[in-house]
Amino acid sequence: MVVPGRGKSIGFFIALGVALISVIVLLYVGWIFLSWRTGILLFLGILLGAMLISGIVLNTFFLVREIRRNEQQDAFINAVTHELKTPVASIRLYLETLQTRAVDDAKRTEFYRIMLEDSDRLLETIEQILRTGRIGHSGRKPTLSRIDLGGLVQECVTRAATLYDLPEDSLTYRPGSPITILADLDEVRAAVSNLIDNAVKYSGLNVKVSVQIAADDEKHASVRVCDEGPGIPKTELKAIFKRFYRARGPAAPRVPGTGLGLYIVRSVAKRHGGRAWAESEGPGRGSTFVLQLPIAR
Ligand code: ADP
Repeated sequence: MVVPGRGKSIGFFIALGVALISVIVLLYVGWIFLSWRTGILLFLGILLGAMLISGIVLNTFFLVREIRRNEQQDAFINAVTHELKTPVASIRLYLETLQTRAVDDAKRTEFYRIMLEDSDRLLETIEQILRTGRIGHSGRKPTLSRIDLGGLVQECVTRAATLYDLPEDSLTYRPGSPITILADLDEVRAAVSNLIDNAVKYSGLNVKVSVQIAADDEKHASVRVCDEGPGIPKTELKAIFKRFYRARGPAAPRVPGTGLGLYIVRSVAKRHGGRAWAESEGPGRGSTFVLQLPIAR
């Protein structure tokens, strides 16, 4: 996957390196030519020394950032490979069984159901990657239309309840007063679905998710998705919205994923002039995700 801006940052390192070498050369040449003037020398020495130190600090900062990005991309490639390989391997196994053995009707129906679920998972991963590319493309503007926010959220809740086969009180939606937003239907649907999917999948066996909508002020409305799942450490509340970021450490839930869902949510919010953020009292205390979007006038 080609990461935009990578060429630019490498160019920056090269330019910075060349600039630092020029400063060193200047320092030495200056030493020879200006040694008779101690005052000027001292002044230039301090100035160039300070430049060198700040340059090296800056260089180290950007290098560390590049290395972190590399690590995240490696983790992303591993996660995506796993997400693509697992359903394909499963579908293949069931097809081989169907081809080589006599299977009764009940088993056959069960195999078809599992294969359909696996192909949905495969399609979802592919769609997530394609959507990241589309949304990250700055030239591609959202197609705005007036959307009934309550209706859209209800649609996403119904989809998730069916997809995860949830009992009625596990995923609830409390409709508030009607709100019309000005947004790209496809993008907002993807963002809200990502938040609900995360709330369900990170809750494990104890799914208690509630979704609400509200007008925050005259200009903004928000969708709040609350769960009673594993929660998020305060230090990671911002980082989880970065592209490819997946929570680490022993407290992080072992749930498959690509680290793209919340990046899509935040990008959709930004593209509409809104915001997205997470709230949590810490590990074990559930989380709330908020997607804020502009109200249509
Ligand atoms: P993915 O779910 O594919 O890893 P996301 O971008 O959707 O990618 O989420 C990034 C990280 O944020 C996840 O790896 C997870 O650790 C954390 N996270 C997201 N939603 C929740 C949630 N509802 N509860 C706890 N942690 C969450």
